[in-house]
Amino acid sequence: MTMLGEHPVIDAMPALFTVADPRLLATRTPDVPPRDREWLVEAAQRVRLLGRGGAAFPVATKLAAVGKGARVVVNGSEGEPASWKDRVLMRQHPDLVVAGAALVGRALRSPQIVIAVNDATSAAALRAAVRRCGDERIEVRHVEHRFVGGEISALINGLNRRTPVPDGVRVLPHERGLGGRPTYASNVETFAHLALLAALGPERYATTGSAGEPGTSLVTLHGTERGAAVLEVPHGIDLSRLVGEHRGPILIGGYHGAWTARTDLVVERPALRAAGIGWGAGVVAVLPERTCPVGEIARVAQWLADQSARQCGPCTFGLPTIAADLQRIVAGGHADRGELSRRIGQVTGRGACHHPTGATGFIASGLTAFDADVRAHLAGRPCGRTTHGVLPLGGGR
Ligand code: SF4
Repeated sequence: MTMLGEHPVIDAMPALFTVADPRLLATRTPDVPPRDREWLVEAAQRVRLLGRGGAAFPVATKLAAVGKGARVVVNGSEGEPASWKDRVLMRQHPDLVVAGAALVGRALRSPQIVIAVNDATSAAALRAAVRRCGDERIEVRHVEHRFVGGEISALINGLNRRTPVPDGVRVLPHERGLGGRPTYASNVETFAHLALLAALGPERYATTGSAGEPGTSLVTLHGTERGAAVLEVPHGIDLSRLVGEHRGPILIGGYHGAWTARTDLVVERPALRAAGIGWGAGVVAVLPERTCPVGEIARVAQWLADQSARQCGPCTFGLPTIAADLQRIVAGGHADRGELSRRIGQVTGRGACHHPTGATGFIASGLTAFDADVRAHLAGRPCGRTTHGVLPLGGGR
């Protein structure tokens, strides 16, 4: 794989790599001309721009759903512990993020623009960029760090000075968001792409990437020989280019994502969705031979159980029980795999937010992908490997 533009490691951040001419990670921030809402909607539609926070919602649809005067929320809270891409972007290219926020704020004639972050280094970089930009409507605000706190209704609750947990009833920000007003909310990387789109225009923007998804995406990569890294990749490249020689299962999408043994996948949200896989927050992870995969999955499952806001039964009772079953399997003790599958089925699709379903998707796909290891543990023959904690839990904060 050709590596261009390697950057020094900063702070505890993973190394940066680009496998294409970088855009988001380019050293120079482009001049971003003002564009009106109609221009942005049409341009986002032409390049099929999808949100970068995990749900991959079409940006044009979301922008068209809010009228003039809507508030703007830029979500830089990066609750996914395996993801570093947003902090890399905010710390190294804060001007592009702020340019995107100002662009959307101007297009919507928004009276209020909030960039929500939960780490001091990103906040400082963004505040300096806001001063350079001079848009006095933009405020950088610190929010509490929690996995489910990054869920959009939890984030909006936190910004509205309420408990930062997901709403029991799903209300979308374009209906009721910041201060109870209609709000355009999206991930920091989405705003950076909107800035690029405004600067380049849809034709130049679409000169890289695939027909199904023009442009590039940021990826956080774990477990390969180079350790953790953030990459900017053009859509359409083979996933194998990211993981190199690795031949085992690959985790795609983070801890609400899924493990897959497929080797024919490409980095493109629509293609992955057609294969039943979500790109999520752009996390790709593999497990080196030295670590126990069952132990790694059990460790993340326990962490996911601990992250719940404990408002709903599936989280309060279901996830901890599943995590305990997995710990028994790791130890080579007795566990009923059929019962575990039943419990996973009972939790999936329930709860007031996506957390239980996302968590069980990660666990169930992991048990399938590492079936031989799971069987060996269940047969009382644990692999003997230590669980090294290759899959990060703390997010490096
Ligand atoms: S499903 Fe879990 S994380 Fe989501 S709101 Fe209910 S308790 Fe909280």
